[in-house]
Amino acid sequence: MQKIVIIGAGIASLTAAEALRQNGFDGTITILGEENTLPYQRPPLSKAYLTSDELPSPTPIRSPNFFRDNKVEFEQGGKVIALERSAKQVVIQGGRKIKYDTLILATGARPRPIDLPGESAKNVFYLRNLDHSTALRNALLAPECEKVAILGAGVIGLEVASAANLQGKQVSVFEANSRAMCRVASPLTSNFVRNRMASAGVMFYFNASVNQILTEGDRVSGIRLSDGTTKPADVVVIGIGAIPNAELAQDANLDCDGGIIVDSGMRSSDPDIFAIGDCAKAVNVSTNTPIRIETIHNAMLQAQIAAAHICGKPSPPASPPRFWSDLNGMKVQCIGIATGYDRIQRRPTESDNACEFWLFSGDRMIATETVNLPTRQAKLSKALSG
Ligand SMILES: Cc1cc2nc3c(=O)[nH]c(=O)nc-3n(C[C@H](O)[C@H](O)[C@H](O)COP(=O)(O)OP(=O)(O)OC[C@H]3O[C@@H](n4cnc5c(N)ncnc54)[C@H](O)[C@@H]3O)c2cc1C
Repeated sequence: MQKIVIIGAGIASLTAAEALRQNGFDGTITILGEENTLPYQRPPLSKAYLTSDELPSPTPIRSPNFFRDNKVEFEQGGKVIALERSAKQVVIQGGRKIKYDTLILATGARPRPIDLPGESAKNVFYLRNLDHSTALRNALLAPECEKVAILGAGVIGLEVASAANLQGKQVSVFEANSRAMCRVASPLTSNFVRNRMASAGVMFYFNASVNQILTEGDRVSGIRLSDGTTKPADVVVIGIGAIPNAELAQDANLDCDGGIIVDSGMRSSDPDIFAIGDCAKAVNVSTNTPIRIETIHNAMLQAQIAAAHICGKPSPPASPPRFWSDLNGMKVQCIGIATGYDRIQRRPTESDNACEFWLFSGDRMIATETVNLPTRQAKLSKALSG
């Protein structure tokens, strides 16, 4: 095997390239990324990037020497538009074709679009990439921006709410579900976070169904709820989840079902094609069914697993999924997956500003959630892995 091509230039892709070299692969590695930048970290885009006074520089995933030092060919600004599996080649926009022996799909995800009238108005934002974040930051900082409406109380929605609140804006969060962070955290953690954000001034509307984005001219002016209530807004941010960039795989008839289906070695239904990170759906140490996880930890771990399998080396040790979030000065950290639990234990903490919950299924601890307890993570991770 001489040539590995990786599609996508995010954290999964770069980690895979690095791990392939660490595992001794000495053939050609080519990374094809559609964005016109060096690969950058996404987490700051909804946190420090939105609140800093000066327009911040993107945080690079690796140093500029990474590609040279690891002998990785990197082509930026080239979108791959097709996989030709029988010829073992990919087609880049413009028609150029690149051959592979092994292909890794690390194409990530994109914001789930909302299908509402007014969605394309000026000052309606999604948040996934650097351009989105820069545009949102500029709109939030504009003096005429007073009221911000956020559709979705998931992690991204709450992080934007926190950033806008810290800038002194009037922030309202509208969530169709009955609580915040319902896909990733237990009700106890979501209530803890909601209460503190509400005390800081963020207004929450749960079981709220937004059915129209209101406009004046080409600009957003507010939102309308299904009960007819209207709320004014100068900026609207849509954070209703992400969908995997799996079309290349689907069109090439790889098994896909809400993500590219891969086995425990990240191999797809084509033995020469792997998928990792936000685009991949795999069985995880914390679940018995395939699941798509959108976190940095997962992208890096899956990249290391794929690289080990490609090189015939032992897989890195399994470790439960984890993520962090920064919300109104709170550091939220979750390990494991907050589903399938039947009991939650609140652990004592020294300060009211912190909390720690252990989630159990029967006698087995399956997940932990903490706020403002960063030093607990190593112990909790060990307890969950052991
Ligand atoms: C605003 C924001 C904040 C976040 N905060 C956190 C956090 O605090 N903690 C945490 O754990 N996780 C966080 N995440 C999630 C985390 O960033 C993702 O899980 C991670 O970036 C996934 O990495 P990836 O490499 O799989 O995908 P991506 O980072 O999405 O990279 C995929 C790349 O592939 C490119 N691509 C797609 N299709 C093609 C194609 N056809 N041809 C060429 N290139 C293509 C894309 O343009 C993209 O650059 C956050 C995400 C966002 C958007």
